Amino acid sequence: MKKIVLASKNLDKVKEMRLVLKNLPLEILSLADFEKMPDAVEDGATFEENALIKAKFFREQTGLACLADDSGLEVDALNGLPGVYSARFAGYHADDATNNQKLLDELKKIGVEESLADYRCALAFIDIDGAEILTEGKIFGKIKTVARGTGGFGYDPYFYIDDKKTMAQLSVDEKNLISHRGAALKEMALKLREKFS
Ligand code: IMP
Repeated sequence: MKKIVLASKNLDKVKEMRLVLKNLPLEILSLADFEKMPDAVEDGATFEENALIKAKFFREQTGLACLADDSGLEVDALNGLPGVYSARFAGYHADDATNNQKLLDELKKIGVEESLADYRCALAFIDIDGAEILTEGKIFGKIKTVARGTGGFGYDPYFYIDDKKTMAQLSVDEKNLISHRGAALKEMALKLREKFS
């Protein structure tokens, strides 16, 4: 069976990706199956550029076809930030807690308690022969400064999909049905099925 590597070190994302891709005729590995992988330098200006950078980098490192994602939050009141800086909004050693605190601080600075926002996800698949497949997905919602829920990851407790419910209040399956990554993954799954079955 054809092997592909999910080129993400984020275990939550790998979990979400595996669920959507599980019925494809592919053996799905992740970076956790390899010893000591270096990090790719994500210096692209867009989610798509970063996804391609990661897919190419890990294809070279592993010698296998790779699927990489790049995703993030865009907040209208912050002119689209954190955007491609979502993972490191609070600095190089940021984690979810410090990134969320930075988000709250930035909104407080401009006196905003809620703002329209979206999550975007770009996926890039690179085959061993260099052939590329790109897909993308988005979901629109609101950022509010009151956290709700303990599921998901990242900015999910502050990302409201309607007036009351955040992404952190959804199960992984529910989140995949509506999320930016779910949409990009579904399109990718269709394209991979066409290519490999
Ligand atoms: P990446 O790993 O470089 O794609 O960085 C993505 C960052 O965007 C994550 O570390 C989170 O901060 C944020 N992000 C992306 N997708 C989600 C999501 O589904 N929920 C919450 N935060 C997300």
